[in-house]
Amino acid sequence: MTDVSEQWLIKGVAVNGGEPADLRLKDGVIAEIGDGLTAAPGVTVLDAGGLVALPGLVDLHTHLREPGREDAETVETGTRAAALGGYTAVHAMANTEPVADTAGVVEQVWRLGEQAGYVDVRPVGAVTVGLNGKQLAELGAMADSAARVRVFSDDGFCVADPLLMRRALEYVKALDGVIAQHAQEPRLTEGAQLNEGEVASRLGLAGWPAAAEEAIIARDVLLAAHVGAALHVCHVSTAGSVEIIRWAKSKGWRVTAEVTPHHLLLTDDLAVGYDPVFKVNPPLRTQADVQALREALKDGTIDCVATDHAPHPVEAKETEWAAAANGMTGLETALRVVQLAMVDTGLLDWAGVADRMSVRPAAIGRVAGHGQPIAPGGPANLTLYDPRAPKAPVDPRTHASKSRNSPFAGMPLPGAVIATFLRGTATVLDGKVTR
Ligand SMILES: [Zn+2]
Repeated sequence: MTDVSEQWLIKGVAVNGGEPADLRLKDGVIAEIGDGLTAAPGVTVLDAGGLVALPGLVDLHTHLREPGREDAETVETGTRAAALGGYTAVHAMANTEPVADTAGVVEQVWRLGEQAGYVDVRPVGAVTVGLNGKQLAELGAMADSAARVRVFSDDGFCVADPLLMRRALEYVKALDGVIAQHAQEPRLTEGAQLNEGEVASRLGLAGWPAAAEEAIIARDVLLAAHVGAALHVCHVSTAGSVEIIRWAKSKGWRVTAEVTPHHLLLTDDLAVGYDPVFKVNPPLRTQADVQALREALKDGTIDCVATDHAPHPVEAKETEWAAAANGMTGLETALRVVQLAMVDTGLLDWAGVADRMSVRPAAIGRVAGHGQPIAPGGPANLTLYDPRAPKAPVDPRTHASKSRNSPFAGMPLPGAVIATFLRGTATVLDGKVTR
């Protein structure tokens, strides 16, 4: 859909929250940045006074559900949701039906993304065949495919076998790729429903101990160091995990990590009403964990925010807690949650948000053309955000996602994504998709 003939003059926008400037977008790139730029005929002027410009957001962890679960989401609806959330690139997780464990499936997902045209879709390849945790998938074939896969993950499941994990790390090292691990020791979490602790005991739900996450992360950072390969830790949820990652980074090992918006804001006591909208894997933890995660995102121990956008149809969530699916939608609320949890609390400025939601995830995912500085000659992948938009309650019925399982429903969040540009073409304007 990229229409290189679109020309824009964005007036008075605060680039990464800095002094207001004018941006000229032409031929898919940022042609000029300056003061008092004027528009030639044929150029659309966008008055962006009061808005912040960020490099287009990049998500390392999105479940688009296609192929196979189009009742929950499609590449079309999920990428529309992504654009509305300010994203210009997303990584599509491999736990589709069929699983994205071959060149054929990852190319299919990549092509669907190209056809939809809202964001760049980077398919994630499965680590093991069918996510079975037993046999390595054809990582090289997926890397060499048109989808150019660089991130491999069995997300939803942990690569629990240590020898298999070692082999996977050895493979991706040769491919300049990364293993994104869903850290969950399976035996310690059999039947687990909620963070192991006071709330789970009170509700009579089987607990999910922090140690089940931390033990796998500890093992994997040691394996990554031993092999010299890149490990990325998905959705870190505990204070103990942060300590292990901090230690691994202090050693200079190739370890990166992400945190979700919901783990930056929500805690396990929300489960007291047994509403499965709050059921997620890894589970919501305690306020002390939330505080540690925020500090880790601030100091860079956790590299980036990733949504783990996990759409589910109504029947999978509106059931009793134990039977409900894990997962929450997140693409359309991520930036607003980050404003509330990180910016309005003084932990990150907008340049920090640009780093944690665009620059670093693009680098971890090896996404060319994204996460670049907003500078002349750079790709015109941009998010225009209004941090002063009045707090408004989240209404999932208005979301572009096909699913409604937002844990933020009814919660007043600040801010609003006003516009998103993919290579100089507006995918979102005035908070609405352009087509
Ligand atoms: Zn996961």
